Amino acid sequence: MPSAHTPRALLIGAGVAGPATALFLSRAGWEVEVFEAGAAPDPYQGLFLNVATNGLAVLEQLGLRERLLTDAHRASRMVMRSGTGRVLGEVPNGPAGDPERGSVIVRRGWLHQVVRDGAVAAGIPFAFGSRLTAIEETPTGVRARFADGRTAEGDILVGADGIHSLTRRWIDPAAPAPRYSGLVGTGGIARIAGLEPTPDSQHFVFGARSFFGYLVREEGTAYWFANLTKSEPPRGSLAGIAGGEWLRELRDLHSDDPAPVPQILSGTHGELSGYPIYDLSGVRRWSRGRVVAVGDAVHATSPSTGQGASLALEDAITLARCVRDLPDHASAFAQYQAVRAPRAEAVVRYARRIDSQKRVTKSRLGIAIRDWMMPRFLRNAADDTRNDWLYNHEIPWQHPAA
Ligand SMILES: Cc1cc2nc3c(=O)[nH]c(=O)nc-3n(C[C@H](O)[C@H](O)[C@H](O)COP(=O)(O)OP(=O)(O)OC[C@H]3O[C@@H](n4cnc5c(N)ncnc54)[C@H](O)[C@@H]3O)c2cc1C
Repeated sequence: MPSAHTPRALLIGAGVAGPATALFLSRAGWEVEVFEAGAAPDPYQGLFLNVATNGLAVLEQLGLRERLLTDAHRASRMVMRSGTGRVLGEVPNGPAGDPERGSVIVRRGWLHQVVRDGAVAAGIPFAFGSRLTAIEETPTGVRARFADGRTAEGDILVGADGIHSLTRRWIDPAAPAPRYSGLVGTGGIARIAGLEPTPDSQHFVFGARSFFGYLVREEGTAYWFANLTKSEPPRGSLAGIAGGEWLRELRDLHSDDPAPVPQILSGTHGELSGYPIYDLSGVRRWSRGRVVAVGDAVHATSPSTGQGASLALEDAITLARCVRDLPDHASAFAQYQAVRAPRAEAVVRYARRIDSQKRVTKSRLGIAIRDWMMPRFLRNAADDTRNDWLYNHEIPWQHPAA
């Protein structure tokens, strides 16, 4: 963008999308600042997530991939089992036949820290405790207002403020709201004696009454989650449920499941919380004037695809490339949405199909049919290229956006 002054971008949200976009914009010559509602980084918020091959490719271009991998569980395979313990099949968690380029599981807080540290090292300032409350256009730019009365001004504002985004609503008050998936997630990270490590893999169990996923790292720490089929809980209501209550329900739901599911649950103690799983699709406007949104703010997939963080990273590099190469913010934002929306929508649709398998609505007969069908469907899964479109998606920074 030709300009007499150094252009300035306000980034709202210090999850993945905000700091990554800030880093790429700064590389494109922009002055940037990141504003985050949380009072301080929270290393334990959100459990763990999959950073897929395509997300790792973006981190590589930021020079952050190797650091992330210093505390990651490589999981190039996903192993599916029935509630009776029978292996239903395996699915590559990355490009088929290329386990070296497989995806990894990391603590969500670690991913945030790696990207944030990269941004801090590049001289990007972070303002924690800054909750965006209003956006105003000015004759020459955009102004952000924060809950504590402060304001900030820039040439553009990038909303990376997650699935309940205020930016999205400012861009289009009629934008669709997040959609409840029918599942409540919960999980934990625990050291449990006697568990066998699950090198290079993550495991999933289609329990008769709830869906369970786990991995055991080489040093013995188990990362686990459960997806419980429930009607939508009123907003905030799950916060009142104590950890012990979740554990009682989970131990009951998974009591018939194969090892090590009951062992993981009986060895888990302490705090546990549950969160309703939402997704978001069909957002028609990703920008308005000088304001644009990235990541979960404009498209959110349920965790079932393991693509939420990776799509956010792809948005970051794509938006910054468009801003760098196109003549003004309007054409940059339009090009960014045109490139990103079809892919993001396809991933959300794919996740919805997986969610429908996780919801426990099936009769005994339905479960038997699923357990009979799945091995046939997954028979050649190690070489199955059907999901390569998810992973083989490279966005080279040096290539022009147009
Ligand atoms: C608590 C939690 C747990 C999650 N767990 C998983 C998981 O287990 N597996 C998985 O695949 N995905 C998970 N996700 C989703 C995953 O983190 C996202 O899909 C992905 O990281 C996209 O990141 P993002 O930067 O777009 O949004 P987010 O990571 O949601 O970041 C948005 C940031 O914006 C901040 N913010 C929001 N509103 C304002 C405001 N008004 N002003 C300033 N800042 C604001 C938020 O505090 C947050 O830090 C989780 C998300 C959350 C919120």
